[in-house]
Amino acid sequence: MAHSGVSDEVVAPNNLDVHGETEPHEECGVFGVYAPGEDTAKLAYYGLYALQHRGQEAAGIGVGDGQQILVFKDLGLVSQVFDEPVLSSLHGHVAIGHTRYSTAGGVRWEHAQPMFRTARSGGDVALGHNGNLINQGELREEAAAYGLIDPATDPTDSDVMCALLAYYHDEDTSLVEAADHLLPRLRGAFCLTFTDGEKLYAARDSHGVRPLCLGRLERGWVVASETCALDIVGATFVREVEPGELLIIDDDGVQSHRFARSQHRGCVFEYVYLARPDSTIRGRAVNATRVEIGRRLAEEAPADGDLVIPVPSSGTPAAVGYAQGSNIPFGEGLTKNAYVGRTFIQPSQTIRQLGIRLKLNPLREVITGKRLVVVDDSIVRGNTQRALVKMLRDAGAAEVHVRIASPPVKWPCFYGIDFASVDELVANEVDPGDVVEGVRVSIGADSLAYVSVEGMVAASRQQRSELCCACFDGHYPLGLPDLDRHAVEVRGLQESMASGGL
Ligand code: SF4
Repeated sequence: MAHSGVSDEVVAPNNLDVHGETEPHEECGVFGVYAPGEDTAKLAYYGLYALQHRGQEAAGIGVGDGQQILVFKDLGLVSQVFDEPVLSSLHGHVAIGHTRYSTAGGVRWEHAQPMFRTARSGGDVALGHNGNLINQGELREEAAAYGLIDPATDPTDSDVMCALLAYYHDEDTSLVEAADHLLPRLRGAFCLTFTDGEKLYAARDSHGVRPLCLGRLERGWVVASETCALDIVGATFVREVEPGELLIIDDDGVQSHRFARSQHRGCVFEYVYLARPDSTIRGRAVNATRVEIGRRLAEEAPADGDLVIPVPSSGTPAAVGYAQGSNIPFGEGLTKNAYVGRTFIQPSQTIRQLGIRLKLNPLREVITGKRLVVVDDSIVRGNTQRALVKMLRDAGAAEVHVRIASPPVKWPCFYGIDFASVDELVANEVDPGDVVEGVRVSIGADSLAYVSVEGMVAASRQQRSELCCACFDGHYPLGLPDLDRHAVEVRGLQESMASGGL
């Protein structure tokens, strides 16, 4: 059975946008645990707590005891959705969990995960997904033809996957066989955890776009989007789930099954912004990558400044690196209210006019009279940086030089990250002949520079051929989406097939 904490459809604000900026958002975090004798619901809760940054609009946990799967999910942060009584009601030796951020038009309860379906075998299937499929159209058509979904309700790709998996899984077809039928036909980015209430399954797309790792508990196993979620539950990192790999976890341990092989194409933006700094992806510590990007940025784009300050907190590692690379002192010049973006209360017009001050406030005694080098992770619409530059000047800064630890974002992501729409990206609003100067004028800085794509890639210690950099260079290694609604954005974009891929 499945139950929820709400009975009526609820629509929440898509993302509290208190100062007109839309930061890039990961769409989801996934977690799974197989641990007989352990409180798997609580382990999943803490795993999701560590993955909260990957999705802040909905959270859910599905627990299986070999007889049934019980799913509890709702809109809100992990700590808002779950309390002690709810977690105490979820019993079983296997659990999957999910944190969600949605892309368009608000989030509905039905879109919260794990998804849940009754299989034709009579058993249950629950599934959590991080990523975005690019062949949703054909999968929806198939699911609709079987009567599994109503296309008019705009089902998510995650719901369609869960529905097809449950449909394939009948008396004669095991869940592994069903997965083997479905997974090779999925195109795009996906990290999945799913369960039939007995075993834990985890799968990663053939290009490994989004991260997924395996960890060992004393009495069980854990899979998670990021290694930081292994740390919080006391699991030891074993290895990453390989691209094109399905893991089957039960009392016999971990079985590996390959359903596809392709060139690795990990998302470079995970290193730059999305992943938590205390996570490690493909052996490279995310924080170390960001510090090195800052060092390279200092080499590529020196500035005459008295003080390097970060835009907290995502710009902090790169600012540390910039200070190291430039020999300019590092200092905290801004204080961040870490909780302002985490409320569902819409600000009043009066509060909204305060803009960036809801989130950031200058430390005047630190910055007055200084030539500042301000380091941030990325520029999306430019509203934050524009307000920031003005705020720093008003607070007494002599000069404001902005340095950005990623190249200009010019292209949409079809593989699971939500940027502002293409037209809203400030890099697309200015003269394409000189984007940097156009953005500098737009935000009012004394100087502006971005790290190069080459510098960013080198800092990740990955080969360019092993990464997706499409939002920076417009080359889509997995191909472009098939749904009509993307047609306008798709026009003019370049599809570059990964070797061994599609
Ligand atoms: S387009 Fe950008 S954000 Fe999306 S997967 Fe590629 S690098 Fe990551």
